[in-house]
Amino acid sequence: MKKYDLLVIGGGSGGVATANRAASYGAKVALFEEKKMGGTCVNVGCVPKKIMWSAASLQHSLEDSINYGFNTQFNSLDWMQLKSNRDAYISKLNSGYEKGLTGNGVSLIRSHASFVENNIIEEDGGLYTADHLVIAVGGRPIIPDLKGSNLGIDSDSFFDLSECPKKIAIVGGGYIAVEIGGLLKSLGSEVTLIIRRKTILTNFDKMLSENLMSQMKADGIEILDENKVCSLEHQSNGNIKIWLDNKTSINNFTNLMWAIGRRPNTDRLNISKTSLKIREDGTIPTNKYQETNVKGLYALGDIIKKVELTPVAIAAGRRLADRLFGGETNSHLEYENVPSIVFSHPPVGTVGLTEKEAVEKFGISDVRIYESTFTPMYYAFSEKKKSSSMKLVVKGEDEKIVGIHLIGVGSDEMLQGFAVALKMGATKKHFDNTVALHPTASEELVTMKKAREAQNIY
Ligand code: NDP
Repeated sequence: MKKYDLLVIGGGSGGVATANRAASYGAKVALFEEKKMGGTCVNVGCVPKKIMWSAASLQHSLEDSINYGFNTQFNSLDWMQLKSNRDAYISKLNSGYEKGLTGNGVSLIRSHASFVENNIIEEDGGLYTADHLVIAVGGRPIIPDLKGSNLGIDSDSFFDLSECPKKIAIVGGGYIAVEIGGLLKSLGSEVTLIIRRKTILTNFDKMLSENLMSQMKADGIEILDENKVCSLEHQSNGNIKIWLDNKTSINNFTNLMWAIGRRPNTDRLNISKTSLKIREDGTIPTNKYQETNVKGLYALGDIIKKVELTPVAIAAGRRLADRLFGGETNSHLEYENVPSIVFSHPPVGTVGLTEKEAVEKFGISDVRIYESTFTPMYYAFSEKKKSSSMKLVVKGEDEKIVGIHLIGVGSDEMLQGFAVALKMGATKKHFDNTVALHPTASEELVTMKKAREAQNIY
């Protein structure tokens, strides 16, 4: 049996960050990954999505450039060139991750690992043990158990498409649905979103979900709300017919994509051989130190059902390694006030509490709201203007900022610094005392004047 200081199962963002940080302290580390290095984020998530989002943003800029007097020639997008450039970029990242790990002295084992006992794992007949073992295996898209559901693709196979879908239905109204729906619309698809509730991004501040929904509709995306898909079938022309729960059908979709959430990959680890407790949905409960119920077994990233974001997995992994091997005895990630961007068109940024959450937490009389809606100067003479909206949720007499919510061009690059301010406990007065940057959209965040009472209508 091979003995290490740390074994990491999973070569995604969280696993790689943990292994590298532990190795930097001189720990003897092995990492197991059977697929491409980098996990969801690098291969079928953040990275290829951001490239597609940038392509879609370029399309918007081309359209807007006409208003500035450019004689823009619209030539069609060469989807396969974009795809092959994207794939080549990702291959470089895959090998960069691999080189980074091996360069740091981590043993990289490119096969499937599963448990034999609590602290013993097996791969290809070899046995490995360590005092510390991190499970960071991530998740995969959920495909519902419905008649014909396999006619649909998921967000993994979206990145295999060799042409831009002509007419696509996307089921779901979360991050993936609005991001891919938005970018495909810009790149030329006819897009229909099928959502089971009245609105998209249901966990976000209502201002954001309502605003994005109306901007998506204005862009020509059809949104079928309060609808559920019951089954799919092939039409004789090769397209997809979608049966809805109101017994009507919609036809002639060239593609359908499921974007209804993700499930953890813990079902492939032989967890029954251990005494590890998992939830019914396969996720692993941990305490704030990423510790599971088994001594020496840790879990982080998407499989713990806290915040499914790449930087969260990275931060949790690094802090765990700092604690186990770097002498930082209390090092752990605080899961509150994590900023997040949705790469929709326009992008959405959020950090802290929504108005609803703040009212629930502090009481309605202790919460006030500052808001601003405006048209960025970029659209000064555009026919198709996209508005921006911003909301500050403040608490108490000193008006501590407890939530910042943005939608509009540039929100993605605007939020990070304001998230630092919120994390540091900034008050509205701090914002007021900061001189504005002019002319920018972000200056609105430090020039809001009149507050309104919080509302309990949400
Ligand atoms: P989300 O949890 O964001 O959204 C899931 C969507 O599917 C919701 O609209 C939900 O509806 C709907 N839904 C769930 N179950 C069903 C069902 N049975 N039938 C119909 N609709 C259903 O998941 P995603 O798959 O979009 O993304 C997974 C995670 O990946 C995200 O939570 C996010 O953490 C991460 N991610 C982050 C990104 C970023 O940082 N920019 C980008 C992409 C993903 P309802 O709201 O009604 O529950």
